[in-house]
Formats: sequence, structure tokens, C-alpha cells
Amino acid sequence: MKGLMQDWPLTVPKVLSHAARFHGSRELVSAALEGAPARTSWESVEIRARRLASALGRRGFSQGDRIATLAFNSARHIECWYAVAGTGAVYHTLNPRLLPEQIAWIANHAGDCALFFDPFLADIVVKLAPLMPGVRLYVALTDRAGLPAAALPDLIAYEDLVAEGDGNFAWPELDENTACGLCYTSGTTGDPKGVLYSHRSNVLHAMMGCSADTLAFTAKDTVLPVVPMFHANGWGIPFAAAMAGAKLVLPGPRLDGASLCRLFTEEKVTLTAAVPTVWLGMLRHLDETGTRLPHLKKIVIGGAACPRAMIDAFERKHGIEVVHSWGMTEMSPIGTVGSLTATTEALPWEQRLDVKARQGRPPFGVEMKITDIEGRELPRDGVTSGRLKVRGPAVAGAYFRNADASPFDAAGWFDTGDVATLDQDGIMTVTDRAKDVIKSGGEWISSIQIESLAMSHPAVAEAAVIGVKHPKWDERPLLIVVLKPGQSAAKGDILAFLTGKIAKWWVPDEVVFVDSIPHSATGKIQKTALRERFAGFVLPQ
Ligand code: AMP
Repeated sequence: MKGLMQDWPLTVPKVLSHAARFHGSRELVSAALEGAPARTSWESVEIRARRLASALGRRGFSQGDRIATLAFNSARHIECWYAVAGTGAVYHTLNPRLLPEQIAWIANHAGDCALFFDPFLADIVVKLAPLMPGVRLYVALTDRAGLPAAALPDLIAYEDLVAEGDGNFAWPELDENTACGLCYTSGTTGDPKGVLYSHRSNVLHAMMGCSADTLAFTAKDTVLPVVPMFHANGWGIPFAAAMAGAKLVLPGPRLDGASLCRLFTEEKVTLTAAVPTVWLGMLRHLDETGTRLPHLKKIVIGGAACPRAMIDAFERKHGIEVVHSWGMTEMSPIGTVGSLTATTEALPWEQRLDVKARQGRPPFGVEMKITDIEGRELPRDGVTSGRLKVRGPAVAGAYFRNADASPFDAAGWFDTGDVATLDQDGIMTVTDRAKDVIKSGGEWISSIQIESLAMSHPAVAEAAVIGVKHPKWDERPLLIVVLKPGQSAAKGDILAFLTGKIAKWWVPDEVVFVDSIPHSATGKIQKTALRERFAGFVLPQ
């Protein structure tokens, strides 16, 4: 027997219409490179998205077309996502921090046919244009006066394109499984892989994001996504914020401590999200300037392991709650969130910190298990580690135009490539990326745990641990450290600090001090680059 409820497809234009109708006056504030921020509202964003959708249709773009954006966070970028998806085409975020050849490879693989870009990225676009023959329209996200003097074919100002369209354009009825957005993984091993989100996955993911133990967006919140929209579906924030009726503050390309603090204060931001490297810079800025952020209630930190010391600094010193989250492009991206339970909230401070430094629990909509390499499920005892596998309505089921890459098994489980433990309370702890695990004497050493601990040392700004070849043990850990400005520490101090806090055989064989640690285009420590740099490193005997 079938249920007798309405068939109401879960599509993205409904999210925007909801925001426009019920939270129409809530603002979207976009930081400008010069001068005051630009202000708009959910109501205006919806009308302009309709106009843009209609203009794209008039220019011959149709359902299924991939339309790329090369842009930082702004209200115009948000309008593009909704307009493109609303017509049944696919928004495709390109990462401007990649090399032009990498961007062009991704755009060509995706089959992009139009490119919307920030005018200050025009130099990159000029390099890209000859490499992307399929792109037949270039749109600079500005008005006619701001149009860059770039030698680009078929270049138009965004405001002129919007003006071509009809604000009464009716969103077409779309099947909820229609493709909606496309984002490529960072591709640290092999070519980048395309993750093709559907309307349904984006809507369900936004509902997941709004729930109280996840991002907990509400209509009272002012959300500043530091995480760029080109990283992992913008963590779903453009949809979750609209669904909740939150105010959005969009920072553009300036993501340094001073620029963000100004926006946090002037716009009374309550909630923000980014990778740990951004918060390292922010903590330094807060320390140096003595700035307080009285409005900021919560910081979501994910994309890489959040060091325990960082959680302690924000919570104890600045009174801002940290929510540690794990996810990946293939998961839209939320996988787990470290919000506390009645039991863990009652723990003493240090133990609470231990819990918060772990990656957290999956929200409803994410199934999770760990297996050995043969695929046999391993116990959820908090000790045994194995390949982390996930399933859910916002988890990729295949890669776009890439049938060879198949980390998916017959039952639909996706192998995340992470190694993790699960405990009986449902808390997941990432021990490593499978390829970063250090294999010493047949046992595994977690680079993430040593890094987190090393960063609790008062003189350490950033730390990375890699495995280095060893004649007897196969691999041994090498600790690479960046010291805080003006601080000093010797190898012996750091090793003494670690000793007793981790198993004896986990203590690194050597510590090297460097000026900086390389980061990827999404702000993660580039272990591959470090492994190359220290490939011939000889450990002391
Ligand atoms: P991306 O798809 O580029 O966001 O990369 C996803 C990968 O980042 C995951 O598979 C993890 O290896 C890593 N990652 C994301 N969040 C965390 C976290 N909180 N702790 C440890 N690793 C993380």
C-alpha cells in the first residue's frame, strides 16, 4: 500500500523561494575589495536569480549544461548557483587557486560551456580561454563600469546579463534527482574526480546542516562562510542559510585575520566556518591585536583535523564554541560533527577537549562503518582502526564521466580513503588518510594525533608528521615544525613534551624546523610535497 502524501520534489529553487517568501528582508552582505560592502536580501536574490535563469535560457543554455564559476564568496555567486540549478543546468565551481592548466583540465572534463568569474581574476581567465574551447560565454561578476579590460571572446558584465532576463520567469518543474551542482575533488592522487550533486542531495544535505547537532543555522543567525564556495560544495552553506533564513556575510577573497575580524564585528556575525589554517591566522591576529569577538558564538572547523590546542584557545580564551567537523567533497560534504551529548558535556574540561578534538558523530542521513582491507566489518570499540566507509542520500554513488574510479562496493558503501576508529557512542576518530598512515614494524602510527599534540606545545605554530624510510622498522615518524614568531624550542624540548602523552614507539625519531609548511588549494597540509622534500632524509640511528 502506498502512502497518501503529496509528491513534492526536493529541488533547490524551492529553498530559495522559501527564503524569499518567509525571510525576504534578511540580508546578504558582500565584502567589496574597496569601499563599503554591497547589501542585498533573499527577496532580491530570488528575483535576480529568476532573471539570470531566463537570460541564460534566451541565450540558448539548457538543462544539463555545465556552467562554471571561478569566484570567491559573494551574493552574485550565490545568485549564479540558484539561477543555474533552477533552470535544470549544473553549477560547476572551479578553484582559482589551482594552476590554469589544472583548471582547464577540470573545465574540459566537465564540458563547461559558460564561465562566470570575479573581475579581479581576469588575468587567470585570459590564460584559460584558449585552453577551454567549449566555453562560449564569459560573464564578469560586476556591472558594466567594472568590466575588466581583458581580451576575452563573448565577454559580458553580469549586471547586463541579469537585465536581459525576466524577473517573472517560472522555475521549471524538475525531478528531484536532476543534476544540480558539480565539484571536483582536490586530486592529490591521480586526476581530480567530479562529484555531481542532485537537487535532492543538496536539499537533504541542507536540512541535515540546519539540524541542531550539526551546523544549527537559525533565522537569528548571521553566518559568515570563510570556506570558499569552490571548496566541497561550499559546505552546503548557501542552501542551509537560505533554508534557515539566516543572514549571510560573504567575505570575497580577503580571508586574513584583520579583514575577517572587521566583518565579524561590523556585521555581528554569530556563526562561521573554515579549515584549521584560517583559524591559525585568526588566533595569531586576536593575540597580537587583543581583539574580542563578542557576537561570535560558534566556529565550525573542518576539512582537516582541528588541533586540540586550537579548540582550547577559542573556547577558554575567547569564549567561542568550536564544533569540529569531518567531511569530504563526495559527501556534500558533511560526514560527522563533534557536538556534545548529555554525557560528554558533563565531562571535566580536559576530557571534553579530548572528545571535541575527535571528528564527531554522523547526523541522520550518514551511515558509517569501518572494515579491514577485505571489506569485513571491524568492531566499534574505539580502538580498532579500519577503512572508513559511508552511505547516505547526500553521498556520491559514482564519479562524473569516470567509470574507472570505483571506491563504491555492491551494497553502495563509499570507501572514504580515511582510516578511522568508531566507538560505542558513535564517535568517529580519523587516525589518518590511508596514504598518510605511518607503518612502523607492522603497526600503524597516527600522524594526525602526533600533529595535534605537537601543536599544543606553546612555541609551535604548525606541525606535520610524515613517515620516512627506516632500515629496521620500514617507516618511522618525522616531525616537521613551524615555530611561532619570536619563539624558540629545541628538538629535545618538543620530544620531551610528547613523551608520556603518546605510546613510546610513536615518538618521532627526528624533529626538523622549517619556515613554513606547504598547503593545498583548499588549505590542507600537503603531505605529498613534504614527502617529496624529505624523500632522502636519513634518520638518526
Ligand atoms: P575534501 O574533499 O577536499 O574536503 O577532502 C576530504 C578529506 O579531508 C577527508 O577524506 C579527510 O581526509 C580530510 N578531512 C576533512 N575533515 C577532516 C577532519 N575534521 N579531520 C581529519 N581529516 C579531515
